[in-house]
Amino acid sequence: MGCSGTYDQVMDATDPLRDNGIGALDKLSRPLRDLRVSVTDRCNFRCPYCMPRELFGPDHAFLPRSELLSFEEIARLVRAFASLGVSKVRLTGGEPLLRRDLHVLVATIAATPGIEDLALTTNGSLLANQAQALSDAGLKRITVSLDSLDPERFRALADTKVPLETVLGGIAAASAAGLPVKLNTVLRRGVNDNGLLDLVDFARARGHTLRVIEYMDVGTTNGWVRDEVVPSAEVRERVHAVHPLEPIGDEGTAERWRFADGTGEMGFVSSVSKPFCATCTRARLTAVGELFTCLFATTGTDLRAVLRSGATDEELTAAVRGRWAIRDDRYSEQRGAGATDLPKPEMSYLGG
Ligand code: SAM
Ligand code: SF4
Ligand code: SF4
Repeated sequence: MGCSGTYDQVMDATDPLRDNGIGALDKLSRPLRDLRVSVTDRCNFRCPYCMPRELFGPDHAFLPRSELLSFEEIARLVRAFASLGVSKVRLTGGEPLLRRDLHVLVATIAATPGIEDLALTTNGSLLANQAQALSDAGLKRITVSLDSLDPERFRALADTKVPLETVLGGIAAASAAGLPVKLNTVLRRGVNDNGLLDLVDFARARGHTLRVIEYMDVGTTNGWVRDEVVPSAEVRERVHAVHPLEPIGDEGTAERWRFADGTGEMGFVSSVSKPFCATCTRARLTAVGELFTCLFATTGTDLRAVLRSGATDEELTAAVRGRWAIRDDRYSEQRGAGATDLPKPEMSYLGG
């Protein structure tokens, strides 16, 4: 991972996908390995960096239910992606736990041949009641977003009436249900960066992995300013000064470091300061079935239309393969170079 990797290094020469003719390589030789599935564009939080209340207020037109992919349609698409090399699936949104009976979808995806890892990203507010059913259905792990452990700060950052206690209860329930827990924190300078060490201590004490994520210029509504980005290197130094850290390598998009005293590990996602486009093997599926090949892509490919036109499995797979074959996205590497000033879809819609 990281900007040090070259595009040629992404593929191992012995990788079976390189030569077997199924063609799931993009224009920069990156294979298709993981899929984020957004199951809804709705959310019960209004985090200003994602769904600012001014723009996602009572008048906002969320997608009608009939527009959403059904569980059967999602399952069919996941099978098509799996046949092209996807082994990791993450369910997200919006807030995925707002989608009724999500555990039913989890069970179907968990049973899909080729899917080895199935995870979920949630704000945790509805987790306490669902954790056991999700775990029983075959969910492998869970990521809970948590930007502050201060009740008032939390309320402001999530712009919600849901108290912090409810999210902490959800985290505890997930752990009790046997799900490994990661905590995602988006750190912003002058906003919540003074709570960093509290979050580190909270995670360490409970055996969770904290991942600190750089604030990104996703979407067009969050008023991103680069000054608020706290670069991972700085975050790591701040933690290291109190709890010495040692590198253990990279995992997907995160750099992993362990605490020298043996009390676990933490991760850093440096999307802004150290882009990892060279090794980006991720596709995104929106709740209405559009395939996006980059978090910053301006348009998607309508797979729902293919599905609902009565396409065979082969035709569906060919549509995905064809789109992946022409992928050349590497927005984070081009950021700041005037790469794209076109309006980008919001993260809550795309599936963060
Ligand atoms: N609602 C769920 C949640 O909050 O975990 C899942 C969807 S949310 C869009 C997924 C992740 O995107 C969250 O961890 C959130 O912190 C992150 N996110 C949203 N806007 C972001 C931004 N501008 N920069 C970095 N991460 C962001
Ligand atoms: Fe909702 Fe997640 Fe976006 Fe916050 S980050 S508004 S919880 S979708
Ligand atoms: Fe992948 Fe696009 Fe992010 Fe680069 S900017 S790492 S291509 S999602």
